[in-house]
Amino acid sequence: MALIAIGQNRKMEDYLESVRRAGGEPVEIVVGVEAPEQILSRVDGLMLTGGGDVDPKLYGEQPHDTFQAAETGRDEFEIALARVAIQKGLPLLAICRGMQVLNVAMGGTLVQDIPSEITGALQHSVPQPRAASAHEVWVSRGSKLQALLEDHMDDGETCHVNSRHHQAVKDVAKGFTVTGTSPDGVIEAMEKPDAPYCVAVQWHPENFWRTGEFRELFEGLVQAANSRKKK
Ligand code: MN
Repeated sequence: MALIAIGQNRKMEDYLESVRRAGGEPVEIVVGVEAPEQILSRVDGLMLTGGGDVDPKLYGEQPHDTFQAAETGRDEFEIALARVAIQKGLPLLAICRGMQVLNVAMGGTLVQDIPSEITGALQHSVPQPRAASAHEVWVSRGSKLQALLEDHMDDGETCHVNSRHHQAVKDVAKGFTVTGTSPDGVIEAMEKPDAPYCVAVQWHPENFWRTGEFRELFEGLVQAANSRKKK
C-alpha cells in the first residue's frame, strides 16, 4: 500500500480519512523530528496541508497587518519537504496553505490579504459549513486537474469549491501552470506539468470525503504513489 506523508495539522482527521478512502496509508509527520530527506525516503507520496500564513520574509516582503503565522518551524520544514519532493519527482498534493508553501518553496510569491489587495474580490473566507460551496473555480482545459475532476463539472470546466483562505498565489513559481481561477481572478489551482503528479488546490477537498466529491485528487495522488513504488 502506498505510504503518503501528511504534513502536521491541527485538524488531521479529514486529511487522514481522504487518503485512506483513496487506498493510501497516511503517515503523519511532525515538524523537526526527522529531516525532510529522511522522511521522504521512506514514503511514496506527500500531502501538504492547510494552516497559517507563510512568513512573507521568505518571499521578500514585509508582513501585512493581517499576518497570522503558522506553528513554529512549519514554514522552513514544509518548504524543505516541498523542494525535496519536487527534486525527487515524488507525487505531491498541496492543499490551501500547502499550495502557498509549494509556490514560495519554488520561488513564487503570495497575495498577503485578498480583501485588501484584490478589488472586487469574492468572499474567500467561508468557515462554515466546511463542505459548503463558496465560489466557482474555472478549470483550465487540458490540465491534469480537468482530467481528474471531469465527472464533477457539468460543462467540463467549472466546479464549485469551499473556501477558507485570505491569501493566494500571486507570482506563480517557474515550471508551474495555473489550472484554476475563481471569477475574481484569484488563483485557485496550479500544477507542474512535467511532474508525475504535482497538483495544488487552494480549496479544501479533504472536507468532502463523506460525499466523495474531489476524491479523484486523492486517488490521483495514491495511484501515482503506487506506480512509483512499483518501479
Ligand atoms: Mn477561494
